[in-house]
Amino acid sequence: MEELDLILKEGQIVTASDIYTADLAISDGKIRLIGSHLDCTAKKIVNAKGKYVLPGGIDVHTHLDMPFGGTVASDNFETGTIAAACGGTTTIVDFAIQPQGATLAETAAQWQEKAAGKAAIDYAFHIAITDMNDAIMKEMPQAIQSGYSSFKLFMTYDGFRVTDDTLLKALKIAKEQGGLVCVHAENYYIIDYLVKQFKAENKNEPIYHALSRPNLAEAEAVNRAITMAKLAGAPLYIVHLSCRESLEELKRARALGLPVMAETCPQYLLLDEDKYREPDFAGAKYVMSPPLRHKESLEPLWKGLKNGDLQAVATDHCPFFFQGQKEMGRGFFGQIPNGAPGVETRMMLLFGIGVSGKKISLQKMVEITATNPAKIFGMYPRKGTIAVGSDADLVLFDPARSLTIIKSILHEHVDYTPYEGFNIQGYPVMTIAGGKIVAENGTFTGKAGTGNFIKRSAPVLI
Ligand SMILES: [Zn+2]
Repeated sequence: MEELDLILKEGQIVTASDIYTADLAISDGKIRLIGSHLDCTAKKIVNAKGKYVLPGGIDVHTHLDMPFGGTVASDNFETGTIAAACGGTTTIVDFAIQPQGATLAETAAQWQEKAAGKAAIDYAFHIAITDMNDAIMKEMPQAIQSGYSSFKLFMTYDGFRVTDDTLLKALKIAKEQGGLVCVHAENYYIIDYLVKQFKAENKNEPIYHALSRPNLAEAEAVNRAITMAKLAGAPLYIVHLSCRESLEELKRARALGLPVMAETCPQYLLLDEDKYREPDFAGAKYVMSPPLRHKESLEPLWKGLKNGDLQAVATDHCPFFFQGQKEMGRGFFGQIPNGAPGVETRMMLLFGIGVSGKKISLQKMVEITATNPAKIFGMYPRKGTIAVGSDADLVLFDPARSLTIIKSILHEHVDYTPYEGFNIQGYPVMTIAGGKIVAENGTFTGKAGTGNFIKRSAPVLI
């Protein structure tokens, strides 16, 4: 038998369906053996007794090195993936955003270049189509063939939002070719009207960012996207669903048996719109779209995860420094770069608050952070589970470790965390990516540039 690289002894193996005690042996980046008291040797043996061994986190919504509103998201593929690794995430799916006039192939090539030699964990790309036309639609099948099996369309934002007929056409192509359309669902006209109104009334503070993007603006667009998907007979994935009104739309569609899926994010589960009222412009730290919502949306979203109405939790990690970047919007909320960090804290918050606080089970955590994302985005069972032959992407949680999250312990290249002061029970003490220990106790031990591009297949509908 080939020599094994690593054995984890007596951990509690957790999948979306099981928890059991076993040894787990790894070689050449793959899980080779799982069993009790494995009688074999390896270059390294880790005592995992008392630890939970989960599939490494898959974050299907990140924005690394992304231009936005005259600045650029502050994490690049090196710093962002190191932060992800330290937080227990072993694969990201970032958005390759189409520059105006570029082909999809050119878009993919541009983002491949940003990641090459930098990513510390595996990565894939959705293609965010911002300049849709007939030629781009013709190019979609080729993009799917090349491993970019999901596309994102924006229903809002000047410059790159798509009209309903375009969305309908894209859904049809995706359906025929085995791809998946993801939408950023917010009603453009409601937001445009309210932003202009607040501006005219000289209401410029961060809270007006939230007030200009009401729950109904999202719920209406969610409903409209679902209608288009139903007409096209196509699957649909809604990114960053943030409020209970949208969740109701999603539940209604799923009750009809429609293949509509959605993610929410930690910020919509744990933070609320009162954050925008923090003094000294600190509310700008939470300016993102959709915005943080009223407290009354938080519990319904947790329940939606628990009940399987919501399929995934991703981060929409899109950091901007408070100093120098967020501050660009001091005079007017519309000029605050949209986005906040989160790639490093997702897993520890879901474990440390979600599981430890009995909001979700441990198996549910695996399902929404790894298994479902891998299935929906065509990476299963290579990723998203713990099975012989799967990639050795794992995270070990110590349920006994408690911690207060503060910016200084995190690796995200930004000057704050939205989760400052959050107390968590349970901590990701080791991350293994591609069979290598890439993080231990919050310290990066891997190597930038060792992550691989993952070609993705057709979605598995959940
Ligand atoms: Zn996003």
